Amino acid sequence: MRTARVAMLREIRPPQERPFRIEEVEIPPLTEGAILARMVMAGVCGTDVHILRGQVPIQVPAILGHENVARVEEIGGEKPLRDITGKPIQVGDLITWLPKSCMQCYNCTILKDPSKCERRLGYGGWIPAWEHPYLVGGFAEYVWLLPGSDIVVVNDVAPEAVVLGDALRVMVHALDRIGGLDYGDAVVVQGSGAVGVMGALLAKDAGASQVIVVGGPAPRLDLVRELGADAVIDIFQAKAPERIARVLEMTGGRGADVVLEATGVPSAVAEGLEMVRINGRYVIAGHYGDAGTVPLNPHLINRKQVTITGAWSADNSHFLRGLALLRKLSPEALSKLVRPRFTLDEVNEALIATERQESVKAVITP
Ligand SMILES: [Zn+2]
Ligand SMILES: [Zn+2]
Repeated sequence: MRTARVAMLREIRPPQERPFRIEEVEIPPLTEGAILARMVMAGVCGTDVHILRGQVPIQVPAILGHENVARVEEIGGEKPLRDITGKPIQVGDLITWLPKSCMQCYNCTILKDPSKCERRLGYGGWIPAWEHPYLVGGFAEYVWLLPGSDIVVVNDVAPEAVVLGDALRVMVHALDRIGGLDYGDAVVVQGSGAVGVMGALLAKDAGASQVIVVGGPAPRLDLVRELGADAVIDIFQAKAPERIARVLEMTGGRGADVVLEATGVPSAVAEGLEMVRINGRYVIAGHYGDAGTVPLNPHLINRKQVTITGAWSADNSHFLRGLALLRKLSPEALSKLVRPRFTLDEVNEALIATERQESVKAVITP
């Protein structure tokens, strides 16, 4: 009997309580079209922390890890398999995989919005780990990918870049929602976690003349500044009224053309609406968990005619388009963005580090 080591989550408890236990799980034989892949790297996401805090509901036992790169070890059956771009999938290929939308529900077919699929199958917490095929998350030695999974062959992309794709696709989606940036736009990004940092790099790459990141702590701001942001505002140094005043000062008193929210903090939305210009656009993308309510002044929205929208996760196209930016990141930039590294045995430490928000993307390399 072949087994794989996994970081099993049997109870939802905060990172500090070290909720993961390493267990051995049997690797089921492959069925036609299934793939057994050996994990190369799994990103630890802010969403994983929210899951452990009970803010993003999932069922346990679960195997987390949804930002994955793995090497194909075995393919079930004889039929040739292809990834979502049509490339053949072969033993030895480096792959990642995306949440699977059903393409049959109301949201998939009538609304044509697979990011809102009613029956979305997400590896790394949303596919049950208590039934076949068990190995359904990236915090493990092996994953067992169901036939028909949405796989992308990423032989030509650094694993560190691929794990950033989960955060980046949310921001590609956010820009999509507002019809993209106009060349030369001034953009404020609220938040300096992985989504915020990738949003800043994306905005710069998409032609923003000015990218201002409002976030913290300082090491993450220093990094995003080094990688291309024009200005940063540290939330631990400046209170909200000062932050708003500084954005207005840097944008000729008018405010930013576009504000991208990636904080998950309700008060950031009230603040962001003060930073956007007349006829400006505001996208809420950081509230994947329900963090509660906040008082807003509707007069502000009315007077400034602000367009406000949300961007929920992303669909396959957003991930694929994000690869264009990920391929441009230098090995040096990647080594600064993707750190620290942990082994599978150190999974609890990886979650604690992510909760402390000191780095952009911690990873597990089994
Ligand atoms: Zn994620
Ligand atoms: Zn659907």
